[in-house]
Amino acid sequence: MHFREQNLTGEATSLKARSILYHDVTEPGDYDSSGFSGPAAGHYKLAWPDFERHLEAIRGILKSAPATILDLLAETSPRAGFLLTFDDGGISTLRIAERLQEYGWRAHFFISTDYVGKAGFLKSQHIVELRRNGHVIGSHSCSHPRRMSSCSWDQLLIEWKQSADILAQIVGEPISVASVPGGNYSRKVAQAAAEAGMKVLFTSEPTVRPQIVDGCQVLGRYGIVRGMSAASAANLAAGRWAPCVQQLVAWKMKMALKSIGGNYYERFRDLCFGESGSA
Ligand SMILES: [Zn+2]
Repeated sequence: MHFREQNLTGEATSLKARSILYHDVTEPGDYDSSGFSGPAAGHYKLAWPDFERHLEAIRGILKSAPATILDLLAETSPRAGFLLTFDDGGISTLRIAERLQEYGWRAHFFISTDYVGKAGFLKSQHIVELRRNGHVIGSHSCSHPRRMSSCSWDQLLIEWKQSADILAQIVGEPISVASVPGGNYSRKVAQAAAEAGMKVLFTSEPTVRPQIVDGCQVLGRYGIVRGMSAASAANLAAGRWAPCVQQLVAWKMKMALKSIGGNYYERFRDLCFGESGSA
């Protein structure tokens, strides 16, 4: 099977990607076994029986296999499609990828390179295998900063550039796709990603409307959290407007709270979920 190279050249303008964002998938209740630990990270992890139901529902609603960003950018028309993305690079990625491959599906895996080889995370050879199986490998920063948008410009450049270099060495191809840790996005985060050579940056803003920042296309994603029904995930995958709008409204309210409350919002979240771990 031939897969496209991870060398992105397409233009952003007419791209309309509908992306959903998953994290780890573990045995029920064993959420700390893969990826970042703690309740804050666990909130985004699914148990296998639930993930299986999500896959079945998405499969039932889609007319074709999910696309990859490489497919969309290579096309002239139509340049719209559904993308599956997974953040963090937890060890559960391996089983997730195998499961998707059984359907002939490919996904995007975003990896924080400081954690490669650590307990609960992918090893380098796993990343090679994922890429060999046609999945898209992207950066999720080096250290997964708790508040990416608060990082200095130099720190942002290091986070994007070093992680992309490490992943490029592992897979033997340039890395030009990334996702923002914790969805902690600002224009500066995208500008630094562009400066570091990223052509596409996925955020956690629930939208299909692309933006272009210094030549880097910034694409939103609809986030999946534990407890979300399979039907809701499938509706998001299918781009049905009601659940998409609902998620956008909830997200905008959260952003408004953050801008009003500043650090108080973060402290409140820490109190609810504990300090450790983030998505
Ligand atoms: Zn993350």
